[in-house]
Amino acid sequence: MRIAVFGTGYLGATHAACMAELGHEVIGVDVDPAKVSRLQEGEAPFFEPGLPELLRRHTASGRLRFTHSYEVAAQSADVHFIAVGTPQRPDSAAADLSQVDAVVEALGPLLTGHAVVLGKSTVPVGTATGIADRIRALAPSPEIVVGWNPEFLREGTAVHDTLCPDRIVLGVGPGDRGRIESVTREVYAGPLADGTPLVVTDLATAELTKVAANSFLATKISFINSVAEVCDAVDADVSVLADAIGFDERIGRRFLNAGLGFGGACLPKDVRAFRARAAELGVSAAANLLADVERINSRQRTRVATMALEACRGIDNPRAAVLGLTFKPDSDDVRDSPALDVASRLAAAGVTVQAWDPHGMDNAERLHPELGYFDSPLAACKAADVVLVMTEWDEIRALTPSDLADTVSERVVIDARNCLDPAAWRTAGWTYRGIGRR
Ligand code: NAD
Repeated sequence: MRIAVFGTGYLGATHAACMAELGHEVIGVDVDPAKVSRLQEGEAPFFEPGLPELLRRHTASGRLRFTHSYEVAAQSADVHFIAVGTPQRPDSAAADLSQVDAVVEALGPLLTGHAVVLGKSTVPVGTATGIADRIRALAPSPEIVVGWNPEFLREGTAVHDTLCPDRIVLGVGPGDRGRIESVTREVYAGPLADGTPLVVTDLATAELTKVAANSFLATKISFINSVAEVCDAVDADVSVLADAIGFDERIGRRFLNAGLGFGGACLPKDVRAFRARAAELGVSAAANLLADVERINSRQRTRVATMALEACRGIDNPRAAVLGLTFKPDSDDVRDSPALDVASRLAAAGVTVQAWDPHGMDNAERLHPELGYFDSPLAACKAADVVLVMTEWDEIRALTPSDLADTVSERVVIDARNCLDPAAWRTAGWTYRGIGRR
């Protein structure tokens, strides 16, 4: 198929490369000229395992191209994916739809023939119907149809998640199902042949599926973090507890790691946008639940910052080593990263922050130039009064107490991701503090 992808950020660049891998002819469109030229050279503008190989292979073969021209893209494709950002609005918890609106206004008048528009961006329920109406008003052809195909990829495993998704969700408007579903089946013929389920539903259900999925994951994390606080109060161990309840298939062990809480470009803003939309619709139970999920999440950051400041109390010019800056391992994304948030709070409180991350330092430094950045975990730990483990990168989990013992000033480690072995660190003479861990 001939496919255009509008917006080539974390989602769009991955989607474009994976569509080429599935055998389609793809053109990616972005308003950022630097991003377009890097992608056209076959270079990934961000760290995502497996993506550089796909970009190189398919830009070299010509099956994957990038442009800033809507005209070129509109002529080069029959299926148009909207994959631009929907960040939080600066003035409220709601989603900022200006990038999506800009795509619709620019693309709509250029659509011809039997083009199909598929939304991928995460949007508040009700958005897709408005977009379908607007595109019908703008497009010279009455045959244009709009569906919503939310994306569930996870940064760090985005290529795998796109090529082998758990499920494909497709929302269609009344009367539009036939053509949109058959085109979608052709686009995803590979994963569907491998047994990926396709859920076809109405536009509102498709939009809600995405924010409900992210809100559920966020709720799971805030649930275990609130249990961790109870564990702290009675000297119980939340990691053992999570293992024990996780054996129950109805609960499951994943997303039950107590720690610094969720962050990144999706979960926090999707939870906030869902809360705002639920409140707008007058559904207060959902809005209140999600407000609590957020409150618990932000309290985790305060708890870890407080633990670090307590460790530094009474020390002149204290130094904190911050290991890990990204919101999760295997990504360079520091958007709404809990690690970076805590690091900047410590710096604001007068602590000298010495940070290290295997892939997130350039992005972190752009946002927080006031922090110190070091080229190895050992260098970041030099003369530190407290070591904070903030992101569970393999390189950080692999550090042993003896690796750092002679480098630090004080043997105090705060394991904000509960990813170290407390017994090993305590036996080696360290003061170990985790989250809800004895
Ligand atoms: P991003 O900010 O990384 O990328 C957005 C891209 O769109 C940027 O490259 C920007 O230059 C470009 N853009 C902005 N306006 C444009 C326009 N008018 N025309 C063409 N390009 C334009 O965002 P992202 O993380 O890729 O997320 C995109 C959407 O996907 C969001 O709705 C997000 O919630 C959703 N999503 C993201 C992920 C993820 O892991 N990042 C996963 C699932 C869903």
